[in-house]
Amino acid sequence: MNSSGSLDSADPLARYSGLFLRDSAVVSYLDGNSLGRPLTASIERVQQFMTEQWGSRLIRGWGEGWLELPARIGDDLGRVALGAAPGQVVIGDSTTVLVYKLVRAAVDARPDRTEIIIDRENFPTDRYVVEGIAAERGLTVTWIGGESEPESDAGVTAKRLSKKLSDKTAVVVLSHVAYRSGYLAEVPALTELIHAAGALVVWDLSHSVGVVPTQLDAWGVDLATGCSYKYLNGGPGAPAFAYVRSELQGELRQPIQGWIGSRTPFEMGQGYTPADGIGGFTSGTPPIIGMLAMQDMIALIEEVGIDAIRAKSVALTRYAVQLAAELLPDARLASPKDPARRGSHITLDQDGFDEVVPKLWAQGVIPDYREPNGIRIGLSPLSTSFAEVELGIWAIRHPGD
Ligand SMILES: *Cc1c(COP(=O)(O)O)cnc(C)c1O
Repeated sequence: MNSSGSLDSADPLARYSGLFLRDSAVVSYLDGNSLGRPLTASIERVQQFMTEQWGSRLIRGWGEGWLELPARIGDDLGRVALGAAPGQVVIGDSTTVLVYKLVRAAVDARPDRTEIIIDRENFPTDRYVVEGIAAERGLTVTWIGGESEPESDAGVTAKRLSKKLSDKTAVVVLSHVAYRSGYLAEVPALTELIHAAGALVVWDLSHSVGVVPTQLDAWGVDLATGCSYKYLNGGPGAPAFAYVRSELQGELRQPIQGWIGSRTPFEMGQGYTPADGIGGFTSGTPPIIGMLAMQDMIALIEEVGIDAIRAKSVALTRYAVQLAAELLPDARLASPKDPARRGSHITLDQDGFDEVVPKLWAQGVIPDYREPNGIRIGLSPLSTSFAEVELGIWAIRHPGD
């Protein structure tokens, strides 16, 4: 196996790690999939916004570009990372709220159908929101996986999905990259199956956006959402994005009828008429400050290219898996073995890891812990070096040294 030093010196993307803010006490950051590091460029952007925009333009700022920001950044994100033509992506709300809005819009567009399909390994918020919508609309949740189907590391495959799809299915809600195992779903094939059953699909891209390329337009995806504080480095609680395929925008109605998503917000009139286009999927005042930092990361992704980022991501997870096999023989890889089948994180399961993680954090090695016994290692390609991976895996082997 190559040393981390030789991998870092051969890495064409190594120089970008210097663009991120670093704290010398954090020697190995392995949680870029949960909260990305800030870019130093964002410090100046936020400061400048405070003084030159908020501080001096005050209320006038809304008419001088702030209100257009959600759709403008959405277009940039669509071009750089999503494979989406302009007018289909908008920034705002949290992923949780957008899952609600998009799934509700989708089930309401299939009024004769009675089921929502989702998998047991999906992120809790997605599952909880779907359960809530089912209760609200009198629908049934049809689950993929769980106790009777212990195939979690295999993720949602065409075979598993086909068994559940029927003419009762209104909507299927899936994650592109599974938050625990890192399993990478085959979006085009699964989307095609779902459409063949006459249903709509909502893809959650939280764990793939900015690190795994997608072609939402070409793949025929209906609806998608995802976080901006993971691999888009937008900062804690930065707003999410929604993708609504242009052909569906006129047909779908989202449930949170707010004034900013109405056709004429400043007429303050009676009765709600949704804005045309993607604007109709927004609701209230956009969180402008939260949208600042993600713009620096989107620009950097454009400069580097999403395919080069994916290539480094694959190299990083491959290296982490090889090292873990050598140094942590008792840990079980709870992620796909084939790098082409996983996103940018891996999970290693071993009893006792719950006690290891606090020791790691105390020494500046920061992965995260996922129940029931997993250490999750998230590798953000532009800010993580191979040396950090090596140091992290050694620390798991000898926690507390
Ligand atoms: C991180 C994540 C979320 C988080 O949703 P928030 O509303 O930002 O808390 C949702 N879904 C998936 C798949 C995630 O990975």
